[in-house]
Amino acid sequence: VSADKPGNLAHAIFERFLHAGECQEVLGCFRELCQQLGLQGSGLQLYHSLKAALNYWSAKALWSKLDKKAGHKDYDQGTACASTKCLVVGAGPCGLRAAIELALLGARVVLLEKRDSFSRNNVLHLWPFTIHDLRALGAKKFYGRFCTGTLDHISIRQLQLILLKVALLLGVEVHINVKFEGLVPPTDKTGGWQAVVQPSSSPLTHYKFDVLISAGGGKFVPEGFKRKETRGKLAIGITTNFINRHSRAEVEVAEISGVARIYNQQFFQNLYNKTGIDLENIVYYKDDTHYFVMTAKKQSLLKKGVILQDKVDIESLLSPENVNRDALLNYAKEAANFSTNYHLPELEFALNHQGLPDVDMFDFTCMTRSENAALVRDYNGARLLLGLVGDCLVEPFWPLGTGVARGFLAAFDAAWMVRRWAAGTPPLEVLAERESIYQHLSQTSPDNTNKNISQYSIDPATRYPNINLQAIKPNQDGHTYAASPVTSEDVYKELLSWCQASTAGYRGVAVTDFTTSWTSGLALCALIHHFRPDLVDFDSVDPEDAVRTHQMILDMAEQELGIQPVLSSTEMATMTEPDRLGLITYLSQFYEAFKTSPE
Ligand code: FAD
Repeated sequence: VSADKPGNLAHAIFERFLHAGECQEVLGCFRELCQQLGLQGSGLQLYHSLKAALNYWSAKALWSKLDKKAGHKDYDQGTACASTKCLVVGAGPCGLRAAIELALLGARVVLLEKRDSFSRNNVLHLWPFTIHDLRALGAKKFYGRFCTGTLDHISIRQLQLILLKVALLLGVEVHINVKFEGLVPPTDKTGGWQAVVQPSSSPLTHYKFDVLISAGGGKFVPEGFKRKETRGKLAIGITTNFINRHSRAEVEVAEISGVARIYNQQFFQNLYNKTGIDLENIVYYKDDTHYFVMTAKKQSLLKKGVILQDKVDIESLLSPENVNRDALLNYAKEAANFSTNYHLPELEFALNHQGLPDVDMFDFTCMTRSENAALVRDYNGARLLLGLVGDCLVEPFWPLGTGVARGFLAAFDAAWMVRRWAAGTPPLEVLAERESIYQHLSQTSPDNTNKNISQYSIDPATRYPNINLQAIKPNQDGHTYAASPVTSEDVYKELLSWCQASTAGYRGVAVTDFTTSWTSGLALCALIHHFRPDLVDFDSVDPEDAVRTHQMILDMAEQELGIQPVLSSTEMATMTEPDRLGLITYLSQFYEAFKTSPE
């Protein structure tokens, strides 16, 4: 494109934006483009202005795809959520994908990401619907090699790049180097919920929103959500990436898309006999890198000197001090060489974000998932809808690469929930519907989701066959509801009555609220004593030394009952209004632990 006319300069910047290969470069090009065109603002308005300003043939092909998408009836011409303000945490594939849907619904969408680069080489398996979905968002415009031929995978970083570009074009406001740390309830009647972010000088601290979508990945779950752990048999995963030079020899080597041990005993036997490497399974994808993911048996890792000492506790077993990194690199390389019949010439490790050979060993014995997909917080009538998507909702099984497919399904489900919320559906109904849909997520596969993938939309009925959106009833409280962290005022009341009933008659205890009634520590001691008199000697508690009493309770509850502290002992002993939600979250855990105990 020649840059002699001002219009063409914008075209040239746009072309650079389309092909930018780093997160910061994408954001930089986009800023430059908006400046060049004199465009400000966000949301679909920005999208329409960009479209009007860039109407040359190459850009038009992309606009026509995005217009087709945006024209779907579910979005009501971009007005379905026109007065909704969303905050999305995390620019992983699922946060970005959810942000795109919210933007199409017409919401204001602010997305924050604590990092400033996309550096994951690892490759994700794409189900047919995800390939179709990404094509409809114009993936090939941004990344020409996207799923060419029979390829059904993509590196995590390429996927993030594609989605970031689409999100920006649709007016999502993306902020990198900003970490979400927590929520601040509205400080006055007119205000909405705000976020605590790092750095605290960020203008985002002033942003008020009514929906929070958390997509912070497997290690990040916002306060109020409970995790469930499924412990399987010991499973040690190894991922590794080698540089792909796209040579003829490399092109000819076949991929391995899931040689599960059970299907190919002979392969694993031969591998073991020849190399001493003992695997449960291995997957090889040829993408931007040569990517391998395998599940290795502990004994062979010990024998090959990768793990130095056997230990019962898996965290110590795989701790850096107990792993010989060079032996691990050799193990991964040998497995890669054997499983490709030594046809990949001179395997050379690709580098990770630290500039080191990209080999990682991790434990996936425990897979966690959140008990609930959403909750509502209500503070003096100001409601906040919180939804989880991606790995923080359900951790994926890496060898099957299910993360992104189920992650996209959850992103659509979350967007549907926000649509229902914006339409004024009662909160408990919105939550009940979301939980009814969530029940299906872990069982979904390409085989049991609707075959007509071109019809998929955020409407769950287009994706899940015979789904019952009312499987969980809004009034089915007691178990499903009280058990869920639905912190709406109704549930607060129920929790308060339970606390009152359980502490009635104890000296110096009168529970009337979730703040000052609890400061002396006596009320908590009474509550625990009521159900577990063996844990607290109520008569010897000193009401004058509240911080010490709270510290004793916090420690004991964590050790004996597995209840995580939410506030510090000093906060518990002073208990100001902003701590109220923290105390409710803390007390809800006692409710969970004791509710089935005999009175
Ligand atoms: P992620 O992709 O994990 O994204 C979460 C984002 O949130 C990150 O960018 C993170 O920086 C950001 N974030 C977290 N906390 C905050 C906060 N407080 N404030 C702001 N931002 C925050 N799956 C496989 O199937 N195969 C693999 O080989 C594989 N390798 C992986 C390697 C790594 C290092 C990681 C982290 C994940 C890997 N996964 C793999 C999982 C896979 O990447 C996810 O399933 C997929 O990316 C969808 O996840 P997500 O968008 O929910 O979360």
